[in-house]
Amino acid sequence: MGKGYYTESILRDELQIDYFAYSNIHDAILDLQNKKIDVIFENSYLIRNILIKQNLSGMIIDNVSNLYPREHAYAVSKDRPNLVDFMNNRIDELQANGTFESIYQSYFYEHSNVYYEELDRERWAFGLISAFGILIIIIVLAEIIKRLKSKLSLKVYQLEETNKELQEKYIEIRTLAYINMVTGLPNRNQLRHDISEMIKESHTKAVMMSVDIDHFNEINDAFGHAIGDIVLKEISERFKKIVPPEGKLYNVNGEEFVFVGRPINREIFKQKAKEVINELRKPIFASDNEIRLNGGIGVILYPEHGCNFDELMRNLDIAMMQAKRSKNEMVVFEEKMGHEFIERTELHKSLRLAIDNREFVLYYQPIIELDTHKIKGFEALVRWIHPIKGLQAPSIFIPAAEESRLIIPLTHWILEESFTFIKDINERFNSNYSISINISSIHIIQDDFIDTITQILSKVGLNPTCIEFEITESVFLNDLDLAITRLHQLQNFGIKISIDDFGTGYSSLSYLKDLPLDNLKIDKSFINAIQDSDKNLSLAESIVSLGHTLQLKLVAEGVENEAQLKLLEKLKCDYIQGYLLSKPLNSNDLIKYIQEKTQ
Ligand code: C2E
Ligand code: MG
Ligand code: MG
Repeated sequence: MGKGYYTESILRDELQIDYFAYSNIHDAILDLQNKKIDVIFENSYLIRNILIKQNLSGMIIDNVSNLYPREHAYAVSKDRPNLVDFMNNRIDELQANGTFESIYQSYFYEHSNVYYEELDRERWAFGLISAFGILIIIIVLAEIIKRLKSKLSLKVYQLEETNKELQEKYIEIRTLAYINMVTGLPNRNQLRHDISEMIKESHTKAVMMSVDIDHFNEINDAFGHAIGDIVLKEISERFKKIVPPEGKLYNVNGEEFVFVGRPINREIFKQKAKEVINELRKPIFASDNEIRLNGGIGVILYPEHGCNFDELMRNLDIAMMQAKRSKNEMVVFEEKMGHEFIERTELHKSLRLAIDNREFVLYYQPIIELDTHKIKGFEALVRWIHPIKGLQAPSIFIPAAEESRLIIPLTHWILEESFTFIKDINERFNSNYSISINISSIHIIQDDFIDTITQILSKVGLNPTCIEFEITESVFLNDLDLAITRLHQLQNFGIKISIDDFGTGYSSLSYLKDLPLDNLKIDKSFINAIQDSDKNLSLAESIVSLGHTLQLKLVAEGVENEAQLKLLEKLKCDYIQGYLLSKPLNSNDLIKYIQEKTQ
């Protein structure tokens, strides 16, 4: 009991119970622990506070509550009764604004058993809720897993199906990679594979034959790719029938076929090559078009001509290109062709450089009117001033320029140069000389040929009526219709057309009447022979009369002596060109020549 507390007076005066009065609560607690006393009467908040501080919670039980009718009591002097209201108001205020609560919370509540019990309850509740939550989560998860499992097994099934499909596609793609899509024949990849397998075998011999169709892309350009494909299919069907025994046919590139025969004797292969060419040359009818093909065959022997795929294919190409160049049906590879091929490739390279470096120069050879001996015009003849080899004649580089298609940029330069030159000459001499330019047959069928001519004409500002284009009969071999269209377009500009080297071409004369031509240039081989025999003379005569019948002018090329000149006069040839009158001259010499001639 607190000494002098109000409680003490009640115990002493009213209840008369034995008690000890302590002036220090700690002494009372010590006595309680030592069982000297049984009970402590004290403010429960204070007691809880002390119990917790001294870590005695649970050992001493705070048991009795609400011993007093009020939790708080205060006393006021009887002299100041108005303080009662004041105190009550203040207490209400303290409770209302939370001061009491906060003091209680910070000094008593959190240290009390009630607090711990509440905490325990909360923990239990939390534990229970958590356990319950976890249980629910587990149930939900179990359900999700169950569903996923069933979905997964569906996916696994689908995956297996897709995998199967992919494998099928892979086989399909692999097949496609080894098959030519158009002809269905094994392609270059398959050939590479088969050759490498063959090389692994010892003591094997084989013959390889490559067939390439001439100007196939022109068929595609002229008739369209659909017709091109029909042609390739037809050819492959024909070739399939002539594959040698133990042989295989490949379609290595668009228009290139390779036969491999193992081992087979050369004679049989020669026979096969003939059959291949025959099949190739038989006309093909596709959508109302009659298409005629030609091609060259290259042959190599294994192991003589190469020990790996690349080497074999390179030499096969070389033999095939040689066949095409030399217009032979079949060419068997020889070592020297390899060197020639390298030389040609080198030539192509240096030609390309020469165009960039402008190493070309034009010579001009006068063409004279036979009646008057006046200058009609000049033929532009190109020369290559090689930095090491010096002046190179066209026969050395024109075939290579055509083969590499460098003739196209080269001719663009020739056109601009010669147009400018003739314009200057005609202005200077107040003349109307013509300029003849040799146009390669591969150039004239280019899509942009006419556009290029228009551009150069407008750039130079030359009147087109003084221009003559010299073309050879080979122009009409491939696509006669396209060539005719082009010639008409040129004629519409006012450009004149001459057939160069007339009489040496292979095509029939019947086309002459349908073509928009102006001149025939009789090849110098006829002029050379003209005075040798009457037969030769009458041959030249018939060419002249044929030309005149068609209302064309005749130009005799390569006139070297007076005898030829006299005979040509007799034949009423219109113009002559040759060393007798002048060799081709560079521009300065030509100006002197004109000056002398026109004095
Ligand atoms: P081509 O167009 O028939 O030119 C005539 C060739 O005969 C020229 O040879 C000329 O120099 C030569 N020639 C002229 N008169 C005589 C003669 O009396 N006797 C002999 N033996 N030859 C004579 P060139 O300049 O060597 O040209 C050869 C061929 O090269 C030309 O034959 C032509 O087909 C081609 N060529 C020349 N320049 C060009 C060109 O600028 N473009 C194209 N595409 N081809 C050209
Ligand atoms: Mg010519
Ligand atoms: Mg000629």
